[in-house]
Amino acid sequence: MKREERIEAATRPQTWDMLIIGGGASGLGTAVEAATRGYSVLLLESHDYAKGTSSRSTKLVHGGVRYLAQGNVSLVREALHERGLLKRNAPHLVRDLGFVIAAYKWWSAPFYGIGLKMYDLLAGKLNLQNSRYIGKAEALKLAPTLKKDGLGGGILYFDGQFDDSRLAITLLRTLEDHGGVAVNHAPVTGLRMDGGKVVGANWRDDETGQTHEARARVVVNATGVFVDDLRRMEDPAVRPMLSPSQGVHVVVDRRFLPGDSALMVPRTNDGRVLFAVPWHDHVVIGTTDTPVPDVSWEPRALPEEVDFILGTAAQYLDPAPTRADVRSVYAGLRPLVKAAEGTDTKALSRDHVIRISAGGMLTLTGGKWTTYRRMGADAVTRAAELVGLPRRMSLTEGLSLHGATHDDLPEPWKVYGTDAERIQALPGASVRLHPELPYMEAEVRWAAQQEQARTVEDVLSRRTRALLLNARASADAAPRVAAIMAEELGKDGAWQAEQVQAYREVAAGYMLPGGVFSADVVSREKMEIRSV
Ligand SMILES: Cc1cc2nc3c(=O)[nH]c(=O)nc-3n(C[C@H](O)[C@H](O)[C@H](O)COP(=O)(O)OP(=O)(O)OC[C@H]3O[C@@H](n4cnc5c(N)ncnc54)[C@H](O)[C@@H]3O)c2cc1C
Repeated sequence: MKREERIEAATRPQTWDMLIIGGGASGLGTAVEAATRGYSVLLLESHDYAKGTSSRSTKLVHGGVRYLAQGNVSLVREALHERGLLKRNAPHLVRDLGFVIAAYKWWSAPFYGIGLKMYDLLAGKLNLQNSRYIGKAEALKLAPTLKKDGLGGGILYFDGQFDDSRLAITLLRTLEDHGGVAVNHAPVTGLRMDGGKVVGANWRDDETGQTHEARARVVVNATGVFVDDLRRMEDPAVRPMLSPSQGVHVVVDRRFLPGDSALMVPRTNDGRVLFAVPWHDHVVIGTTDTPVPDVSWEPRALPEEVDFILGTAAQYLDPAPTRADVRSVYAGLRPLVKAAEGTDTKALSRDHVIRISAGGMLTLTGGKWTTYRRMGADAVTRAAELVGLPRRMSLTEGLSLHGATHDDLPEPWKVYGTDAERIQALPGASVRLHPELPYMEAEVRWAAQQEQARTVEDVLSRRTRALLLNARASADAAPRVAAIMAEELGKDGAWQAEQVQAYREVAAGYMLPGGVFSADVVSREKMEIRSV
């Protein structure tokens, strides 16, 4: 469907059963849940699907070993159940991954080993593989760059790994398969009220500047760290419910963790966990937890966060990556629900929260990617009750997501599942976008034709993951991406130039000074205003 047709569908004079604001994990999960229960659904996303936190995760489908350590057993059990369902329903996007906890102290293997046995048990029938003790030789086989001095073996446990923004796009396609309508680059600018009740929203098509209204029986606010902005549209005096915190990751070459396993550091110097995870033939290392006073769509890593990650990695890896080895650095904001004044953000709720406003708007936030389905199911049940929609059973536990297949396709095709064949039939299926990126030109065409990609950033950041894998290479690839998109979308040379410029400004925020920076990508002036 072309964008014009989509806008037409979104602006038909009708009252939707549910209007969902925000196209991240929470909004897309809710929309798929609602559409598969047979409700009519419109989803509006201000920028692009997964533009917010949902493209900036650690890429784990997990129960959360850390929450187990905090004694939050029910949260872990629920997440482990969802982990198993997601692997079953989207096998093209989720894979089992072994995590090594290296033991350098005599007590650490038994200490963590017991906790991880409980982790296995809590997963029940849907457990992946059982955790076990490993000796030094096996630890080094699984993670050959682990520091050898003092290494006494460790534990190997299993969790899931996924591609976060590809799951978002897969949910978008699943939503469309079930009759839902979703529009990106379509910010909600205000709520429509009638007799004190929220009955819809005003929104703008950011490509034409045209404004529209959408009427709905119930409005769901799933705008991540922006939920308080939406709540203020209803009541400017409302107290904020979030206390956002930032998490940063750096991405380095695979040679820093060349085995098949990830590394988990259960306790860093500041009491957090740190992961080093192989992902699309690179390694993602993170994360941090830094309370932030303000939210933005492009949060920036602080120098001390990057130093902390590299410093902690250097305690375990040899060779250890330095700033010069960082291919990309990205920051995401956690929508943590506020507790009492002065509470440490590490201790705030990671569980999801549903709040109903005086005007009947449902806000869904918190939680994590792994539990998106459960969050969506809870939100739809509450929303339907709230406005008296007919009760309908949830079908998503057993719902295969768009493209689901067990075929083990090679990179970069695996994430498309059953769509891969059609993409491979497009021009440019074997023409790489850049020698240092795994992506093909045909993927750009597909993204523009089928996946609502509207900007160069949509393609390089969220349809492919070029921005996160190698920010400089992605900036180099921008002109070619713009040219292919212009062909597909009927755009001119001025559009291409504007797109390339805008993309390079975004990409500059993912490069470290002194790292893999090429002077022709962004001007020195722009480099200096970066915060990293
Ligand atoms: C550093 C970090 C690492 C994480 N790692 C993991 C992990 O490994 N595994 C895991 O399970 N979870 C992980 N999480 C948690 C998970 O990523 C989040 O819980 C989840 O992505 C939140 O999704 P969301 O839809 O609520 O918010 P978002 O993804 O931020 O989506 C909100 C959307 O609303 C849109 N929006 C805002 N305002 C408007 C408006 N006015 N009109 C229309 N749209 C609007 C935004 O553009 C955005 O796309 C991690 C989180 C962080 C921060």
